Amino acid sequence: MHKVILHCDLNSFFASVEVKHNPRLKGKPVAVCGSIEERHGIVLAKTNEAKRFGVSTGEAIWQAKQKCRDLIIISPHFELYEKYSVEARKIYYRYTDMVESFGIDECWLDVTASKLLFGDGYTIAEKIREDIKKELGLTISVGVSFNKIFAKLGSDMKKPDATTVIPYEDFKNIVWKLPTDEMLGIGRATKRKLEKHGIYTLGHLANSSPDFCKRILGKVGVELWKNANGLGSNKVAKYNNYAPVKSIGRGNTFDHDLTTNQEVWDMLYFFQRMLHTV
Ligand SMILES: [Mg+2]
Repeated sequence: MHKVILHCDLNSFFASVEVKHNPRLKGKPVAVCGSIEERHGIVLAKTNEAKRFGVSTGEAIWQAKQKCRDLIIISPHFELYEKYSVEARKIYYRYTDMVESFGIDECWLDVTASKLLFGDGYTIAEKIREDIKKELGLTISVGVSFNKIFAKLGSDMKKPDATTVIPYEDFKNIVWKLPTDEMLGIGRATKRKLEKHGIYTLGHLANSSPDFCKRILGKVGVELWKNANGLGSNKVAKYNNYAPVKSIGRGNTFDHDLTTNQEVWDMLYFFQRMLHTV
């Protein structure tokens, strides 16, 4: 029997929390940015209104301002985000004890054993979306599938505020027509390498061979080939806790000491996410 895995993604998380706490920001283009005082500050998150002007995560504040003159820039409040992240996870734990965080705003849930209690994957996803909206005033997008890679892919397909199901019987129709970089683990560089060999879609990748992928991408190529064929991991960790971080010194990258685990985690996660898209 296939597992039922959900991937829940809080939409425009930092920006949504800021708007919720300051209703005057509602309906306005807002960007949460790191090191505003610094010339090199970057956009960490933005509202849909800002997105409409083309403002994108990871770009410099001055670039974002060029696209949207009235962009409202605010500093991040990581402790507030952590609070909401914990509350969201508490809601997820109502439906399963297998909840694995992927950064502050995303979680995988294994709800295979919860079906008798709560219904199928789609029904559980809809219940969770409703809970989050009613209790936290935030929206999430959810992907439902039989492994973690496709669940994550699903949560990206329709957002904000939506559920996308990628069933085993239908995954080839849904997934294989997508460009390769829609899948977790394929950034711009890998995409380009694949394109040089005529591989543009996940279907092309799936229908190549593990040997071929290993030759052009190394060991990770075999992993990607497996993932495109629906053989990605379906193991969701139980009780996912961040490893404690005792202290971190003042470096060049941060303009103040990072004092909480969450702050450290957020910055590491943010950079990790940036790397995925390089
Ligand atoms: Mg998110």
